[in-house]
Amino acid sequence: MSADTVPDAEPDLDGAPDLDADWGPVTGWGRTAPTAARLIRPRTYEEAAVAVRDCGARGGIARGLGRAYGDAAQNAGGAVLDMTALDRVHAIDVGGGTVLCDAGVSLHRLMEVLLPLGWFVPVTPGTRYVTVGGAIGADIHGKNHHVSGSFARHVLSLELLTADGAVRTVTPGTPLFDATAGGMGLTGVILTATLRLQPVGTALMSVDTERAADLDDLMARLTAGDHRYRYSVAWIDLLARGAAMGRAVLTRGDHAPLDALPAGSRARRQPLAFRTSRLPAAPDFLPGGLLSRTTVGLFNELWYRKAPRAGRGRLQRISTFFHPLDGVPHWNRVYGRGGFVQYQFVVGHGREEALRRIVRRISDRRCPSFLAVLKRFGEADPGWLSFPVPGWTLALDIPAGLPGLGTFLDELDEEVADAGGRVYLAKDSRLRPELLAAMYPRLDDFRALRAELDPRGVFVSDLARRLAL
Ligand SMILES: Cc1cc2nc3c(=O)[nH]c(=O)nc-3n(C[C@H](O)[C@H](O)[C@H](O)COP(=O)(O)OP(=O)(O)OC[C@H]3O[C@@H](n4cnc5c(N)ncnc54)[C@H](O)[C@@H]3O)c2cc1C
Repeated sequence: MSADTVPDAEPDLDGAPDLDADWGPVTGWGRTAPTAARLIRPRTYEEAAVAVRDCGARGGIARGLGRAYGDAAQNAGGAVLDMTALDRVHAIDVGGGTVLCDAGVSLHRLMEVLLPLGWFVPVTPGTRYVTVGGAIGADIHGKNHHVSGSFARHVLSLELLTADGAVRTVTPGTPLFDATAGGMGLTGVILTATLRLQPVGTALMSVDTERAADLDDLMARLTAGDHRYRYSVAWIDLLARGAAMGRAVLTRGDHAPLDALPAGSRARRQPLAFRTSRLPAAPDFLPGGLLSRTTVGLFNELWYRKAPRAGRGRLQRISTFFHPLDGVPHWNRVYGRGGFVQYQFVVGHGREEALRRIVRRISDRRCPSFLAVLKRFGEADPGWLSFPVPGWTLALDIPAGLPGLGTFLDELDEEVADAGGRVYLAKDSRLRPELLAAMYPRLDDFRALRAELDPRGVFVSDLARRLAL
């Protein structure tokens, strides 16, 4: 479609440009643990190369839209390369369903460009305000993991700026690809990627909803029915106790075919129009105590009750189905200035007892969490630090100021590790390093590749220092 060129193999560093750079505080989406860094915003591949060459003793790390909850895209006292100015869509193969774009392009932008052409991103997380670089760096998963795997499965190739200043073309099936997919930016800066896309007939979803009375009922429904749907996720009430522990609202669906849209409707006339809605942004001065057990308990009760016991084929916009929170800009401020922790773990099939124990502990602990989801993962992908393994993943938000939270989550980490599970690095801000090797068995391969590729440790982040990645 367009004809921009991909970067040269060796960027020309003569007459190095002035970089757009400034010192400032950087945090993840959870707004905990801000650290100061030199924020550099490269506008060209050459500027990115200069930034990497000159990032100094504290090194540098790439950053996308900062939607990782913890400290993955920050680097205390060093450089942080904000990649969002490199946001061109270079070429779309409309017949074959591939796109070549810069790593700073957001999934939101890709949806705007691709949906009218009948294509959708292969994997989307719960927000579309993530970049392609961030999606590969964390090897993100979506509601379709049980069918489509994680994001990197759909990457045909990528261009990686490495610590020596070279730009390498990296393809699946190579160690460098497996270290980069889920490698949290620590192998280098992704400049471009070519992605395989998902064909769609409309920009609407056909959604089935059902309620599950408790955790066992939920797991049984997910196990029995997920194969019938491309997308599946359950919102789970972690404040419910006793017989209702783990009660949930299960939503599953697929892209609606054209003939599912009512004849004569606006949607039928413009079936591929990408429509979103936006409410006013959350203000920055909300008190931290807004999300108490009482308010969250009330919210959960209403949410559960308002869901149909069994709804079939309801049409929803893509934005409503996948990204309900994107409608409220800066929704992360509702947790107040103290911020919040997102805790996400996975345990394998056969470890349901560990999942039950952890859910019981969370609901006994009365954590005021209204954003909790349970999902069943399918086959893992080869990324060495990629998070998904076949099994059960639970994600929940918890206000960071909750008394005793650190100790409580440390205990959950132990449970997860004992069950052979792992926590998700893109959400993490507090895991202790000694548990990491048990959770990620390819950690030593990752460390060895990094030591060879980047002997001076140019690429580093707060996450990498904390966990000795
Ligand atoms: C509301 C919400 C819902 C979410 N839902 C999900 C979900 O369903 N599934 C899921 O998997 N995740 C989910 N996430 C997490 C999010 O998808 C990931 O953290 C993702 O990596 C964020 O992308 P980003 O562009 O904001 O990257 P950042 O947060 O800025 O960076 C994340 C990591 O990617 C690296 N990185 C970024 N750009 C590059 C680049 N150009 N080259 C190399 N490395 C790079 C960074 O160094 C860092 O390690 C959610 C986050 C939010 C806020």
